[in-house]
Amino acid sequence: MTPDGSLLAATGLRKAYGPTTALDGADFSIHPGEVVAVMGPSGSGKSTLLHCLAGIVRPDAGTVTYAGQQLSAMPDSRRSALRRAEFGFVFQFGQLVPELTCLENAALPLRLTGVRRREAEGRARSWLERLEVEDVAGHRPGEVSGGQGQRVAVARALVGGPRVIFADEPTGALDSLNGERVMRLLTDAARETSAAVVLVTHEARVAAYSDREVVVRDGRARDMAGAYDPA
Ligand code: ADP
Repeated sequence: MTPDGSLLAATGLRKAYGPTTALDGADFSIHPGEVVAVMGPSGSGKSTLLHCLAGIVRPDAGTVTYAGQQLSAMPDSRRSALRRAEFGFVFQFGQLVPELTCLENAALPLRLTGVRRREAEGRARSWLERLEVEDVAGHRPGEVSGGQGQRVAVARALVGGPRVIFADEPTGALDSLNGERVMRLLTDAARETSAAVVLVTHEARVAAYSDREVVVRDGRARDMAGAYDPA
């Protein structure tokens, strides 16, 4: 934990890709069990912020602190181990492994940390039930609908009991009914398990599931305290 009680915090993040400044001194913090929507126009730096917070991208300057440890100073191997053990990810397109069944996909994070198949698949099955997609457990991702696939992806993000879930436009490829369902199931499950959720979205309808909104503009993040002005 950081002194203000936050689980994950970033200060003064800067990141440039050649001549393009993606982050220009961004600050961010999130508490356990909190759902924070990161909003802002396309190209404003939302995904780069998420990738820095998750330790996928190393910022050029600034710090990311997770549970009292400075992520940006860790060697890559330690950062990836921490990511596997403590973070869950949901992307716009589920990115399920096409050769595996939905059950095997949902169990994958546990298998990668050495949990035996039987135990991993048992836990994955209960998440598929919780997300109302147990009927597609034996299907491959190519045989299920977009909404079902995304719920399998949410089960995969939750199966390891992560303390932070990073969701980058998780409903971007879904119709509004399926999008709302995924958001409800994701945020309910996160609140029940006290996981924090960093939710990147450009849709106010999706951000409505958050406790707090942060707007990124020109690589800087601003806390909106619930008042999002899209103008
Ligand atoms: P958002 O998620 O808000 O759409 P991004 O964080 O993806 O914004 O991008 C911020 C800026 O950084 C954009 O101008 C984008 O083109 C640029 N950018 C992001 N990732 C890369 C990359 N890997 N290589 C080059 N430029 C990038």
